[in-house]
Amino acid sequence: MLVRTYQYMLRLTSWSPVLRLMRYSFLTLGRAALRGHRDWQPAWRDAEPRPSYDIVVVGGGGHGLATAYYLAKKHGLRNVAVLEKGWIGSGNAGRNTTIIRSNYLLPGNEPFYEWSMKLWEGLEQELNYNAMVSQRGVLNVFHSDAQRDAFARRGNAMRLAGADAELIDTDAVRRILPFADFDNARFPIKGGLLQRRGGTARHDAVVWGYARGASDLGVDIVQNCEVTGFLREGDRVIAVETTRGTIHAGKVGLAVAGSSSRVAKLLGLRLPIESHLIQAFVSEAVKPLIPCVVTFGAGHFYISQSDKGGLVFGGDIDGYNSYAQRGNLPVVEDVCEGGMALMPIIGRVRILRNWAGLLDMSMDGSPIIDRTPLDGLYLNSGWCYGGFKATPASGWCFAHLLARDEHHEVASDYRLDRFETGHLIDEKGQGAQPNLH
Ligand SMILES: Cc1cc2nc3c(=O)[nH]c(=O)nc-3n(C[C@H](O)[C@H](O)[C@H](O)COP(=O)(O)OP(=O)(O)OC[C@H]3O[C@@H](n4cnc5c(N)ncnc54)[C@H](O)[C@@H]3O)c2cc1C
Repeated sequence: MLVRTYQYMLRLTSWSPVLRLMRYSFLTLGRAALRGHRDWQPAWRDAEPRPSYDIVVVGGGGHGLATAYYLAKKHGLRNVAVLEKGWIGSGNAGRNTTIIRSNYLLPGNEPFYEWSMKLWEGLEQELNYNAMVSQRGVLNVFHSDAQRDAFARRGNAMRLAGADAELIDTDAVRRILPFADFDNARFPIKGGLLQRRGGTARHDAVVWGYARGASDLGVDIVQNCEVTGFLREGDRVIAVETTRGTIHAGKVGLAVAGSSSRVAKLLGLRLPIESHLIQAFVSEAVKPLIPCVVTFGAGHFYISQSDKGGLVFGGDIDGYNSYAQRGNLPVVEDVCEGGMALMPIIGRVRILRNWAGLLDMSMDGSPIIDRTPLDGLYLNSGWCYGGFKATPASGWCFAHLLARDEHHEVASDYRLDRFETGHLIDEKGQGAQPNLH
């Protein structure tokens, strides 16, 4: 009788379409359990496109959705749509190796990525969504004295910008990774740069959390809606043509990552972006082995262990440009060689899956958050290998630019014209060579 009365009261207070989305909490979970889990609502509205919006964001990856969320939340702009050609998170947002960190050297980058890290630290409370943000640490091992000096310099720059960084010696690395190949003849491990606040976050959950937050604030998330063209009045973009009709917009923000060049080409714009594939791998589940994210300093290899136990790892971009979203075998071999040089213990672990995503490699390895030469058209692109960790700050700063028409201070160097003026933000000083960034 008591349970029935309780269930009746719950029904009276249950969600109706006029109320806002349910808040996730222990209480909500308990209540749902008592009701047989019948009342869970969809996390966001799958909206039909309307004929016009104040702002249209093209691309329903992490960056596009975060932009829409902050436009609504921080700037009160709710007449906003995110247009996604597939389903949200079907691009790189759902394909990456989930590493978050702010271990950059240059003043143009470090404050931006540190701001992103701070947003990660409060993200789950902000979105009321479990994004599985895990600050398990990011360890970059080094293998020579020269590399130690470079890492010390980077660590100092990070600390000057308010981030955390520790240069640790071989014994300290040994305590974290006792099974690593310390005495490898070619690549002996001489220490590492450790950022304890770095780690991983569940990529899909980040997408879903931002989508839910944005939708709750009134943003339309329109899936299966590919932008196929643009309408202009002189030098002003006034509408997008899509597979679901023409949609007018006061402003259009492009956040299409690896498709940036193709979408910009629809307007005759040529971007300093090359599209490259990068692969990721996950192994069968094994017992807890790797406590943090580890990167190999003598090649391109990085690895972490998921909460399910799978080893998640990756390496270099593929050898040729492509939009195929699947990789080639020479890179598989190269990645596995890097892993074996660092930690031969993983040699007999079986790979469960591998896949590829489409990276928007800029010519200095740093992103672009800027206006374009066309009025009303804004660009968020050039994230290379590292855009997942940038998701919160990218959304924050792109929303700032779209709403106020001025650059946010931590993203003020991410200009498109730097490739013309020569004010490049080239972390490694490698020049316009995507595979070296
Ligand atoms: C294998 C791999 C591993 C990675 N590992 C890491 C990592 O560990 N840490 C890290 O920080 N970064 C990592 N990255 C990079 C990171 O994932 C990307 O930089 C970031 O996700 C890009 O931003 P996004 O999430 O908005 O992109 P996406 O999710 O790719 O979003 C772009 C969206 O635009 C849509 N779109 C394209 N064209 C159109 C159109 N014409 N109309 C409508 N929609 C369109 C696409 O369908 C896509 O959903 C990795 C990437 C890959 C592929």
